[in-house]
Amino acid sequence: MQNKNDLLKQIPHMDKLLQNKLITGCEAYRHEITDAVRDVLAELRVSLISGGTDSVPCDDVIVQSAIELLTKRRHKHIHRVINGTGVILHSNLGRACLSKAAAYAVVEAASSYCTLEYDIEKGERGNRTGGIEKLLVDITGCEASLIVNNNAAAVLLVLSALAGGGNIIVSRGELVEIGGGFRIPEIISLCGCTLKEVGTTNKTRISDYEAAIDGETKALLKVHSSNFSIVGFTESVTVKELAVLGKSRGLPVIEDIGSGALADVKRYGISGEPFADESLKDGADVVTFSGDKLLGGLQCGIILGSKEFIGVIKKHPMYRAFRVDKMTIAALEATLRVYKDPRAAERDIPVLAMLALTEDDLRSRAESLCGQIRQRSGAAEVLSTKSVAGGGAVPGLELNTSAIAPISKESAESLEQQLRALPVPIIGRIENNRLLLDVRTVFEEDFDYIANAIAEITGKPVTS
Ligand SMILES: *Cc1c(COP(=O)(O)O)cnc(C)c1O
Repeated sequence: MQNKNDLLKQIPHMDKLLQNKLITGCEAYRHEITDAVRDVLAELRVSLISGGTDSVPCDDVIVQSAIELLTKRRHKHIHRVINGTGVILHSNLGRACLSKAAAYAVVEAASSYCTLEYDIEKGERGNRTGGIEKLLVDITGCEASLIVNNNAAAVLLVLSALAGGGNIIVSRGELVEIGGGFRIPEIISLCGCTLKEVGTTNKTRISDYEAAIDGETKALLKVHSSNFSIVGFTESVTVKELAVLGKSRGLPVIEDIGSGALADVKRYGISGEPFADESLKDGADVVTFSGDKLLGGLQCGIILGSKEFIGVIKKHPMYRAFRVDKMTIAALEATLRVYKDPRAAERDIPVLAMLALTEDDLRSRAESLCGQIRQRSGAAEVLSTKSVAGGGAVPGLELNTSAIAPISKESAESLEQQLRALPVPIIGRIENNRLLLDVRTVFEEDFDYIANAIAEITGKPVTS
C-alpha cells in the first residue's frame, strides 16, 4: 500500500485531463467541463485522504466520472423527456407540445429579426398582434380579440378593466382553484373588486344572480370547473340565461372557459368542455381561455369578445404588462392557421392527434413498440388501460388506450427510477404494481430509443 502523499502526487493535472479526447468531444461549455473535472478531482482527493480509495484511477476513468457529473448537472434544468404517462396535457411536463410548424415559427422568430411591429408593405410601424387577432376572428366568429401571457393574466386583466372598483357576481359552485394557486376569490380582490357569492356549492339559479345585483355590480362572471366535477343533485345557470339578465341590467357577462378547444373535440369523447364560439353565440360578452390546453399551442391567454369591451380592456395599463412576446405570437399564428383546415389540424397539432388515436391505432402502436423491445431481447407486454386529458382539463375523462409494461423481476418503482434516470428520461406511471408506458402520449420517433432502454433494463440479469 502506497503512502497517502505519494498517492496525492499521482493525481493528474487539470490541464492534462482537459485535453483528454473523451472530454474534448463533450458538448458542454468550457467552464462547465472545468467545474466538473475540478469537483471530481476534489472528491478523489478527499477519498484518498480518508482512505476510501487506495489508488488513483487512470485518466479515462476520471474523465468519465466528470462527464457523468456533467450529464447529471445538465439534468437539473429544463430538458426533453418522453411522456409515457398518457396524460396529454401534463402540467408538470409542459402541457401541450407544439406542431412542427409552430415550433419552427418559434425558432425563426427567436433567432432572427422579424416583423413583430412592422408593416412590411408600408415600411412603417405595424400592429403587434393584428395578424392573430384577425385569425381568431376568422376562426371563432368573434368581433374582436386580445392575447396575453396566460389565461390567469387574461382573467385578471378582463376583471380589472371591466369591473374594477365594483362587485362581481359568481356562483358558489364556481369559486374554483386551478393548479398553481389561481383562486377566483383572490383574483377578484386583486382586481380591486368585491366578490358577491350567490347560490350554493351544488345549486345556483338565475334568481340568485338577479337578487344579488345592486348599484355597485359591474359584471356577472362564470368560471368553468376545469379540474373537478360535482355530481348528483346539481343546478347551474347557463351563459344564455346570464346573457339575458346581463343585457336587461346593462352588465357584461364574462366567461372563463379554461381550456378553449377550437376543434370539435366532442368526437374524441370529450364532453362538458365549453367552446369559445358557442359561449359567444350564447351571449357572453367576453370569453377567456388558455392557448396551451386543448387548443394545443404555446402558453398564452386568449380573450374574445365584442369590439366595445375588447377596446376597453386593451386600453387598461395592465395590458401592456401582460403583452406577449414574438415567440408566442409566432407559435400561436402557426397553430391557428392550421385550424382553418380541421383535417390538417388533427394531423399536425399533437394534442389533437393524440386525442384522435383510435383504440386500434393505439393497440398496433403498442404492439409495434413491444415487438421492437423483443427484437432486442427485452421483455414487455401490451396491456389495455385508460389515459386522461390532464392539465386541469376535462375532469373524469378516461380514454381507452394501450400501454407497454416491461416484464421484470424488479419492482415497478425500480423500473420507473431507471427509466427516469436516462439521458432522455422516460416518465411512466405505476398501476397495480406494474410500470406502464402509455403509447398515446409517446411520439413514434422515440420508439427506437424506448425499445433500447427497456431491452437494456429487462434483458440484464437481476442483481439483488
Ligand atoms: C387553466 C385555467 C386557468 C389558468 O390558465 P393558465 O393559462 O394556466 O394561466 C384559469 N381558469 C380556468 C377555468 C382554467 O381551466
